[in-house]
Amino acid sequence: MPWRDIPIEQMHLCPGCSSPLLAMKHAANLPGGWLILSAFCPNCRQEWNGPASMDQVCALAESTEQGMAEILVEVHRLHQDSSG
Ligand SMILES: [Zn+2]
Repeated sequence: MPWRDIPIEQMHLCPGCSSPLLAMKHAANLPGGWLILSAFCPNCRQEWNGPASMDQVCALAESTEQGMAEILVEVHRLHQDSSG
């Protein structure tokens, strides 16, 4: 599914598994005010690429800051599970 078809409020969720851990990798400019957005889901290990609007990318960048915090909490929890 192209990013442009995804509502901004759902863009931080993985299109494949709805994980909130989706991490934006990079965005590249396209003509006409669009960007090609690349994101990676650490949960289902899928990479997502597609056109997105600048508004969507800005919203995702904000939400992935929160997502990164959640990833760190999850990694820490897994580490504790494996070492305990
Ligand atoms: Zn996923």
